[in-house]
Amino acid sequence: MYHAMKTVCWRTISSQKNSFAALYAACERYGYHLQPVQKPEGDIVCYSLNSINASQYYREIAESPVCTIVGGPHATACYPEITGIADYVIVGEGEYTLPSLLSWIDKTNPRFPTGVATKDRYTPLDNTVILDSFPCYTKIKGYIEISRGCPFSCAYCQTPAIFGHLMRHRSLYAIQQAAKSVHHVRLLSPNALAYGSNGREPHYQSIRSLLSMLHDEMNKEVYFGTFPAEVRPEFVTPGSLDLIRRYCANTRLHFGAQSGSDRVLKKLNRRHTVHDVCVAVENCRDADIIPVVDIIMGFPFEEDEDQKETLQLIRWIAGYGKIHLHRFIPLPGTPLAGTTSRDLIPAADTTLGKLALQGFITGSWNRPEIRFSTSDSNNNV
Ligand code: SF4
Repeated sequence: MYHAMKTVCWRTISSQKNSFAALYAACERYGYHLQPVQKPEGDIVCYSLNSINASQYYREIAESPVCTIVGGPHATACYPEITGIADYVIVGEGEYTLPSLLSWIDKTNPRFPTGVATKDRYTPLDNTVILDSFPCYTKIKGYIEISRGCPFSCAYCQTPAIFGHLMRHRSLYAIQQAAKSVHHVRLLSPNALAYGSNGREPHYQSIRSLLSMLHDEMNKEVYFGTFPAEVRPEFVTPGSLDLIRRYCANTRLHFGAQSGSDRVLKKLNRRHTVHDVCVAVENCRDADIIPVVDIIMGFPFEEDEDQKETLQLIRWIAGYGKIHLHRFIPLPGTPLAGTTSRDLIPAADTTLGKLALQGFITGSWNRPEIRFSTSDSNNNV
């Protein structure tokens, strides 16, 4: 007997564009074509929420006249809370789980998928996505996600809890297929310079193979080590920079320092030092590449002295490059969840304001939501 499939919609949220691209492609394979909507419509509406914008959508989800499925970093971290307002919550990666759930709702899949929570039931995910099994995108364009997962456990970051500690990489062939339809190639990774490696140190041959394929064989304009595929400081070596200069269009390299205090870096479990950051900046300077360095201020355990050291580092970096500044926000699902950002010392506003006016600082040291205003990149190096 013919069984009509349900109409499945995707709630458009600008910061979650890349999730839409990836999940549109994944669902399409199973015969579901997610239709973008501005309010709940169709038979089922899907949401992806990050922890900054989530609360804006709670009421809409709770009052939705159609079935709701909610996923994304925030839903993964807070699934017991979200089952109070949504019919289904996807906990973890969605490429396999979402279409499996849709076909279960449609009664074409007899097995309730793992990784889905409702008010009454939840079985943790029993699989991880092999990146090559799903295209990065099809009709709805997004970034080319080259790697997923991170072996580090920085205390403020949601990435390892969502994607795990084992790095998974998309193959060159799959990346090549995705890159065919675009000229400017922007790659997505928690650490672009970890491509092909276990995430602990660069695997230069893998990076070279990737970049030479895109640049030399495919004649693409490649952006690498910049949004949305920033890198860690200890990966910013002369060898890495040589590859970027040889194959890439970007004149900047974006990496995370997070603090100018070794004491704070240790408490954050960053596994690098302030010295590593300085070496990375100097390596960029020597390679004639502008370093753009992420810093977070207001960690709950920061002492005044730590903030002074961070301001000192910021001033020093401004002599060579730019700073992308954020105010700490305690994200659910991280070791620092439930803590509170501490106040900044009076010298911070003066120093930071001056440097911002001179064009050395972007971002915001008082409004944490600004870091999430443009994209749902999974990186937070
Ligand atoms: S901040 Fe970067 S290096 Fe640290 S856990 Fe997150 S993705 Fe990994």
